[in-house]
Amino acid sequence: MEETSNKISDANLMYCTDCGKAISKNAEFCVNCGAPNPKKSNKNSQTTNNRFLSTILLCWFLGIFGIHRFYTGHTTIGVIQLLTLGGCGIWTLIDFIILLTGNFKDSNGNPIKANM
Ligand SMILES: [Zn+2]
Repeated sequence: MEETSNKISDANLMYCTDCGKAISKNAEFCVNCGAPNPKKSNKNSQTTNNRFLSTILLCWFLGIFGIHRFYTGHTTIGVIQLLTLGGCGIWTLIDFIILLTGNFKDSNGNPIKANM
């Protein structure tokens, strides 16, 4: 009897990292202790952070070739920066500062910033 109730939705269950109770994979939080579900909540912010990190590293190391602009979809600006060596580095520096302040957007208008 107890067995059946536990096995019904095994596929949709995972175990809370904090209290060890079974919770739904799709739950945002553990119903038992309230801890955020790591599988659910980290996914989005992690990809955003990775993209932010990649963009800022590309800008820092390859910015004068406009690589960070290609990476974020601004192909035309990327080509111009490539030809002008990032506006002699000044344009790259400005882009780097905009990135740091979280005001840089990709070609779809999505902001590229760290989720802190
Ligand atoms: Zn829990």
